[in-house]
Amino acid sequence: MSTPSSMDSAKAYATWIAPQASLVVLQPTTLCNLDCSYCYLPFRKKRLEMSLEVVEAVAASIALQPPGHVTEVCWHGGEPLAIGPEKLTALMAPFDQLRRAGRVRHSLQTNATLINDAWCDLFRERDVAVGVSIDGPADLNVERVDWAGRPAFDRIVAGIGKLVDRQIRFSLIAVVGEGIGRAEDLLDFLAGLGPTSIGLNIEELEGVNTSRTQPAPERARAFWEAVFTWSAEHPDVEVRELDRLAQYLRTIRGGGRASWEAHRYDPLPTVAVNGDVVLLSPELAGIRDEHYGDFLAGNVLAQPMSEILAGAWQLPYVSEFLDGLAACRESCAFFDFCRGAQAGNRYFENGRFDSTETNYCRASKQELVRALAGITNTTAISTSTRSTEEAK
Ligand code: SF4
Repeated sequence: MSTPSSMDSAKAYATWIAPQASLVVLQPTTLCNLDCSYCYLPFRKKRLEMSLEVVEAVAASIALQPPGHVTEVCWHGGEPLAIGPEKLTALMAPFDQLRRAGRVRHSLQTNATLINDAWCDLFRERDVAVGVSIDGPADLNVERVDWAGRPAFDRIVAGIGKLVDRQIRFSLIAVVGEGIGRAEDLLDFLAGLGPTSIGLNIEELEGVNTSRTQPAPERARAFWEAVFTWSAEHPDVEVRELDRLAQYLRTIRGGGRASWEAHRYDPLPTVAVNGDVVLLSPELAGIRDEHYGDFLAGNVLAQPMSEILAGAWQLPYVSEFLDGLAACRESCAFFDFCRGAQAGNRYFENGRFDSTETNYCRASKQELVRALAGITNTTAISTSTRSTEEAK
């Protein structure tokens, strides 16, 4: 029988977290052909591959969802293309019926170095939304190297060129390290590659990447100010972070506060090669901690995803994260827009999930808003100064 506190935890879970996953992350292989210096994946040198049995179990779980529910299945590694096109085709096959029925969409995040015609055929045949990781022009991309330490830049650009040749749409995600002082260069370069959108991740501490320095808030704000300025001059290029903020402002100003506040976190199940599931943050997969153990919520070979999610409120790290979200709502002026940011960042930076601020949220949420406010004020001041001077 449930105790009052367990009933509270179950209720808090239902308040904050969506009952069904809209995004399921699958790790087809642990292997990556690159060794980027900031990578958080602990097993990226090992070739462990997902079995057909695991994907069949995931597909069966998704088939149990209400028919109108659409699930994005995101293939994430390691480097997902390191498994080879034949094997990934076989792993995608169990989703075919769901995909044709509009209930599953595939996406894939890649370093692009292995893209060839066979991959392009697969992306086209299964309508895969391709995301490419590249950090900018060659001198800003130096952290992305192979296991021999050779720069991957030329191979990444060649892979993107193949997508362009085959007219396959793709988005870009850049980890912003040194590029934080060169927003214009960075964006000019990324936009020149022809993506549908650009995502900018200011470098974070995650997984086994725990030794990097992170930018001071003032640097992050100056970066976002420069991004806003660049974006105003390039209105046809979508910058993910700016668009999220714009979406928030549009929704709130358009009377949509209730729908914005009704937003619930995706439980974000990440399924490892052996079927193990962690929730809330893919970066928790393969991590062990004295206090939290292995973060496992279950295994898809043993139970359907719906059962795993139904019991998730009992996991200490999940219930701590809910406390962290409640604390953010109570204490943070940015909560209305941010809605509490990421579980993984809280853990990797603060060692716990019920904390609030992190360097990540300061740099990527708070300073983003401050940059917009600063630019708006500057514009307002310069406009009012102009009007005053014109009136003289
Ligand atoms: S900005 Fe940080 S402290 Fe504020 S709501 Fe977001 S995660 Fe919480």
